[in-house]
Amino acid sequence: MEPDELFARVAEYLPPDKVALIREAYAFAEEAHRGQMRLSGEPYIQHPLHAAYTVANLQLDASSVAAALLHDVLEDCGITPQQLSTKFGPEIARLVEGTTKLAKMHWRPAEGRDASQAENLRKMFLAMAEDVRVVIIKLADRLHNMRTLDAQPPEKRVRIAAETMEIYAPLANRLGIWQLKWELEDLSFRYLNPEKYHEIASLVASKRASREKYIGQVEAILSEELRKHGLNAEVKGRAKHIYSIYQKIRKYEAQGKSFNEIYDLLALRVIVDTVADCYNALGIVHGLWRPIPGQFDDYIANPKDSMYQSLHTTVMCLGARPLEVQIRTHEMHEIAEYGVAAHWRYKEGTKRDRVFEERLAWLRRLLEWQRDLASADDFVDSVKTDIFADQVFVYTPRGDIKDLPAGSTPLDFAYRIHTELGHNCVGAKVNGRLVPLNHQLQNGDIVEILTSKNSRGPSRDWLNPELNYLKTTHAREKVRAWFKKRERAENIERGRELLEKELRRLGLSLNEKLPDILKLQHLDSADDLYAKIGVGDLSPHQVTQRLAQALEAQHEPILPVPVTRPQRAVAASIHVNGQSDMLTSIARCCTPVPGDPIVGYVTRSRGVTIHRADCLNILNGEKERLVPVEWGSAEQLYPVALRIVAVDRVGLLRDITTLISDEKVNVSGVRTQERGDRETCVYLTVETTGIAQLTRLLHKIEGVRGVLSVTRSRDSLRAEV
Ligand code: MN
Repeated sequence: MEPDELFARVAEYLPPDKVALIREAYAFAEEAHRGQMRLSGEPYIQHPLHAAYTVANLQLDASSVAAALLHDVLEDCGITPQQLSTKFGPEIARLVEGTTKLAKMHWRPAEGRDASQAENLRKMFLAMAEDVRVVIIKLADRLHNMRTLDAQPPEKRVRIAAETMEIYAPLANRLGIWQLKWELEDLSFRYLNPEKYHEIASLVASKRASREKYIGQVEAILSEELRKHGLNAEVKGRAKHIYSIYQKIRKYEAQGKSFNEIYDLLALRVIVDTVADCYNALGIVHGLWRPIPGQFDDYIANPKDSMYQSLHTTVMCLGARPLEVQIRTHEMHEIAEYGVAAHWRYKEGTKRDRVFEERLAWLRRLLEWQRDLASADDFVDSVKTDIFADQVFVYTPRGDIKDLPAGSTPLDFAYRIHTELGHNCVGAKVNGRLVPLNHQLQNGDIVEILTSKNSRGPSRDWLNPELNYLKTTHAREKVRAWFKKRERAENIERGRELLEKELRRLGLSLNEKLPDILKLQHLDSADDLYAKIGVGDLSPHQVTQRLAQALEAQHEPILPVPVTRPQRAVAASIHVNGQSDMLTSIARCCTPVPGDPIVGYVTRSRGVTIHRADCLNILNGEKERLVPVEWGSAEQLYPVALRIVAVDRVGLLRDITTLISDEKVNVSGVRTQERGDRETCVYLTVETTGIAQLTRLLHKIEGVRGVLSVTRSRDSLRAEV
């Protein structure tokens, strides 16, 4: 292709200064790619040139055409976005950068899908939401790559074709760009199913002469008839594209019908000036040829794919053969051919802005949903079933139109309108008649959702795919979230009970300690804490252990009344040369207390004695026996009264006290009390270092045979013998 072809094409709809900009972009790209070749052997510049020509055929703005010319320079030529921005401005640089990012994506069909590919799709939609022109340029890029796919090694061809069929063609369809959609489909089909493709292609070719003769006759008859009725109309016969013929053949096969070689390959299109003319023309067509019942669709009253509008009918035409006729206005035709791209063809504030907004409404919806979708796979499923699938159009009782994937139910409809409406749905009426909730909606249905205040929420059945209650991933996700939330409420309840019980056993109050516990677990809400415990991710024991350690580290003993035994306790926590396990004793001559400067004196038989640093004995003693010592953190002991309820048996008390002394914990008082029915109550006071040790001890005592419960007793005095 010569660049002049492109310049001539853009000159048809852009002013001279914009054409000059495009010439500049071409010169820049040509220089950047000079010397590079495509796999086909062509100079590389042919590729961006073709892509730009496709963009120009959609009559997109000058920035888009320029960006299409430049779309590969960042990737392949070492040009920086900054350079582009300086030369062509930030808008074009941004478009090129966006397209380059999308170009790096590889998308394989479902079986080879993994999270990163799903993530790519997500990125594509985000890019599209930012500036849909990026995706249109990408589609033009892909179209040329598909046209030159023969140059790729065979194993790559099928992968690229599948990717095009699965993602790019539906995307073009959803953006309403029919021109790109059909060619992408036909090219993909050629590589995915070459036999069928060539079979249909040669069928189309072999019947060309008779088809053209036939369509010529029909055109003449209809044009004449429309003129007689004073209608200004354009009548065009057109061959269907190959992939749509293939789909029609498959549909016929499924219905057991035979495919007619001539008549099913073509369709007639009538383009008129006004909507009223459309219905007039329909009447004229139906007056000429008998319409086939059930083959009429009014996409003017019920726009398809958000904005596609036309009247479709099939009539028994010459030779009693069925012929499909589409009737639309020029404006509808333009929207049908160019879709979203039509937005850039006119000034803002026209009717096309509304078209544009509605074309992209589904995109915003998708981006909203993606936040709810748990996994990347769910996102892909949602794109495929909720966005790319065939749509049905139904009405609310107030007459608002909603598009849903074909096969959707009243429940899908309810969830589309509002999540709560779905949750509380107890029944539905379609066109005034009660229907089951898994009833399949049809085009034009008026759907009314019945709710009840006493509704207990969604049913588990709704998630069973065999029962067909829900078609859309979006609605299924809402139902799943509802169940998750309800389970969470139950878990919170259970977790709270468990934690409360554990704390009560230790004589602590949940309300008082909750802020500390949350901080220690790095959680913001009490519900999160309870839910974690309820689910079993966290045990109440772990919570109290952590709490105890933290409070003890802050020297904020949470147990009352320390045991006053300074001598022993202090001696146990002196560090000699940095070590705490040396045998030490407090010197009787100077009796240092914590805080005094101290020094150690190595004795022959009693380890190290601790003196005040200014003790006279030390000053007069042998200097080589002195060692540096320091006060450790003073370890205090706290008395705690325990109440143990157990089945009375021989050796019970011995087992309990042995276990406690194994833990190196002192027992300072024991008392037992018969409770009758062979139950006995043991009260004992232990001297513990704190909650951490205590909870460990409680769990161990619980493990003793016969023990029914262990709790801290409120009144420690009563526990004393
Ligand atoms: Mn490219």
